[in-house]
Amino acid sequence: MAKKILSANTCAYCLGHLELFGSAVDHVAPLSRGGPHILQNLTDACEPYNRAKGDPLVSEFRERLTGVARHLPPS
Ligand SMILES: [Zn+2]
Repeated sequence: MAKKILSANTCAYCLGHLELFGSAVDHVAPLSRGGPHILQNLTDACEPYNRAKGDPLVSEFRERLTGVARHLPPS
C-alpha cells in the first residue's frame, strides 16, 4: 500500500511552498495504474510538478528527474 509522502504545506516532490506555486492533490500510485482513490494514496504537490509527473510512480518520476539532472551542464 502506498503511503502519503508529505504534508505541511509543501510539495512532496520539490518541497516548494504550496502557497507560492499553487497546490494540487496527487495520487502517489496513479489511478491509471491501479492506485486507490483513498486518503493514504494522496499527497500534496505543487501544480507544476503535478502536471509534469503524469502517470508514473513517484520512484519512476524521481529516476526521470535524476536522469535529466545528469545531462545538465555544471554550474
Ligand atoms: Zn513541487
